[in-house]
Amino acid sequence: ARQAALSSSKGPGRTADGQPVPLLANIGGPSELAAAVAAGAEGIGLYRTEFLFLDRSEPPSEEEQRDAYRAALEAFPAGNVVVRTLDSGADKPLAFLPDQAAEPNPALGERGLRRTRRFPEVMDAQLSALAAVASERLQVMAPMVATAEEARWFARACRSRRLASVGVMIEVPSAALRAEHLLAPVDFVSIGTNDLAQYAFAADRELAAVSALHDPWQPALLDLIAMVAAAATESGKSCGVCGEAAAGPALACVLVGLGVSTLSMGASALAAVRAALAAHTMEQCVLAAEAAREQVTAAQAREAAREQLPGLD
Ligand code: PEP
Ligand code: MG
Repeated sequence: ARQAALSSSKGPGRTADGQPVPLLANIGGPSELAAAVAAGAEGIGLYRTEFLFLDRSEPPSEEEQRDAYRAALEAFPAGNVVVRTLDSGADKPLAFLPDQAAEPNPALGERGLRRTRRFPEVMDAQLSALAAVASERLQVMAPMVATAEEARWFARACRSRRLASVGVMIEVPSAALRAEHLLAPVDFVSIGTNDLAQYAFAADRELAAVSALHDPWQPALLDLIAMVAAAATESGKSCGVCGEAAAGPALACVLVGLGVSTLSMGASALAAVRAALAAHTMEQCVLAAEAAREQVTAAQAREAAREQLPGLD
């Protein structure tokens, strides 16, 4: 296994027994592409486009957006690029849209897709820019989707522009509970474990005082992920994880064992996750996932998984 881990220090993600697990990078703009390529990412699993929009009095022009999306496709000539439409609101206010300071609970307010639905011109321009660079490798997904109706609305907006591959993020518990229905109108889902944990545990993701609650090893979070992965498998569609949970080597193995098909993370985490997968079989990953879900606490889940995944801490 050690040999396999060493020889796979670049190369595509796969388990010790050869099950491919595409390892993708999260980026916030073109300046992060070089590091993603250098780290051996197989594509972009989460392009957080809001960073192109922040701190500006005007939205980026369609041309500027086109250049940014095209650069990602060019940096990965053989890989998929998943572009997330604008995730504004809450911690990411936009200067050119009306101020949201009046919201008493911004994380529960008009953020992500909710906000772009009320300001359709912003999403129209973004989808037009994406359509202009469209390729089979370009995948478009929406943030903060809570209902199947929202997924259908987004899928229609994308398909009317001939964007071929459409997905939604699963980061609200209602979306995980109804994953089968959210999957119906789209081609893939990607689980945002940062927000999914925040909303499942009613625990602010930025607040250290409640960080034990949004520990990604919480068995309830693993249950939600398992539900989504099972629904995706059932429908023959892909289920990725692009939240921080994907960046932990042992947890990445558990996610694969739960049925997750791709993992996306900050470029600096790729090497350790690639090595962890290469050193363990699919069966070990499944056993680790089962063992973790049988536990009561996050600490027990981590410990039980590690017993099935020798060499990982
Ligand atoms: C997430 O919520 O897990 C996610 C990937 O999106 P972001 O961190 O940008 O909210
Ligand atoms: Mg999120």
